[in-house]
Amino acid sequence: MFDVAVVGSGPAGTIAALALAERGVSVVLLERQALPRYKTCGGGLVGRALDVLPGDVQRVVERPCADAELNLLDAGLRYRAARERPIMAMTMRDRLDEVLACAAVHAGATLRAPCAVTGVMFERRHVRLATDAEPVSAAFVIAADGATGDVARLAGWDDGRHLIPALEYEVSVDDVTFERFAARPRFDLGVPPFGYAWVFPKAAHLSAGVLTTHRGAINLHRHLESYLRTIGLVPRATERHGFVIPVRPRTGPLGRKRMLLVGDAAGLADPVTGEGISLAARSGRVAADAIVAAGLDPERVRRGYQAALRPLLDELRIGRALARLLYDFPRVRGWLFPRVGQPLVEAITDVFMGARTYRRSLVGCARALALGASTRS
Ligand SMILES: Cc1cc2nc3c(=O)[nH]c(=O)nc-3n(C[C@H](O)[C@H](O)[C@H](O)COP(=O)(O)OP(=O)(O)OC[C@H]3O[C@@H](n4cnc5c(N)ncnc54)[C@H](O)[C@@H]3O)c2cc1C
Repeated sequence: MFDVAVVGSGPAGTIAALALAERGVSVVLLERQALPRYKTCGGGLVGRALDVLPGDVQRVVERPCADAELNLLDAGLRYRAARERPIMAMTMRDRLDEVLACAAVHAGATLRAPCAVTGVMFERRHVRLATDAEPVSAAFVIAADGATGDVARLAGWDDGRHLIPALEYEVSVDDVTFERFAARPRFDLGVPPFGYAWVFPKAAHLSAGVLTTHRGAINLHRHLESYLRTIGLVPRATERHGFVIPVRPRTGPLGRKRMLLVGDAAGLADPVTGEGISLAARSGRVAADAIVAAGLDPERVRRGYQAALRPLLDELRIGRALARLLYDFPRVRGWLFPRVGQPLVEAITDVFMGARTYRRSLVGCARALALGASTRS
């Protein structure tokens, strides 16, 4: 019997377990795979992710990147943004998540991996989790089992998340090609419809990927192959992985009975970029705070968690509007960027860094647009 059982050892679950263990709460972290495990992800830790993760993650940063570029391949436009501290720190998720799980264990959490949760039973004073090993009981459960996890459904939630498809290729290249792409991460609009493509430089290989914000008959493999040809990236060897990113949260409250949903299980990835590590870690910490503040009282925990998440949920709503503008209307994008491309890139970089919200960014870009119009007239 534990105070809290956390299901899933991605950034959401490990940060929740770490924050609880640090405050003396008895916590068990259940992970269905043996660690370390591969996770399909670009492994780009944006500035605001580095702010919520423990300092230990620096051990698995393969490449800190203080600048980044955005290209509109369909309009021949190119923008760069630079900051004094890394805009993105490149890592591989198997190593990152293992370091985070170790930090939680070091703080006092119990780790069970591999151990898959297969059933959820709410009792009057606790929750009983069936697993593929021994059952586990806890006064409270944090479901951090990611975009394709089953725990919320087992606990009676409807979904309502918008899951978008994304592909990640881990690409080996020759030294000359590697040097050409190693300087900074690049983001490219105008290749996959309704989305973007990227190349992230790691220690000795490149992670390249595409995502589209529309589900359906879009052949992402074809678009990723065509993207690699367009930018002149010829792989020597490629490992291909596909997965989904939830860019709209579940409908209704993210707490139910004695359970909270965090990270991708709740649907909290950024709708503009698909970046999910910082929001997963942040929601894990907020869930832990709500449990500690309410002393495990279910109703107070749920209320505290939902209230603390409100600013984030509002921000994601604005992010969804911006994502539609950027990805659904290429002609509007082609009109907008020559006018406010650089301010927009600076604004999104500030969001990455946790220095600005999408709300403030959009207001800033609207002002820049109005100023440009009045200067021209
Ligand atoms: C192609 C791609 C590229 C991406 N690139 C980036 C990027 O560069 N930067 C960024 O910030 N985000 C990126 N993301 C998003 C990011 O990967 C996720 O948002 C983030 O991993 C969410 O963290 P999480 O802890 O909620 O879930 P996850 O990291 O998915 O962790 C969930 C864990 O739960 C475990 N689990 C599942 N079911 C059970 C069960 N029944 N019992 C026990 N354990 C279970 C899983 O094995 C897993 O370890 C990308 C996503 C994709 C698909």
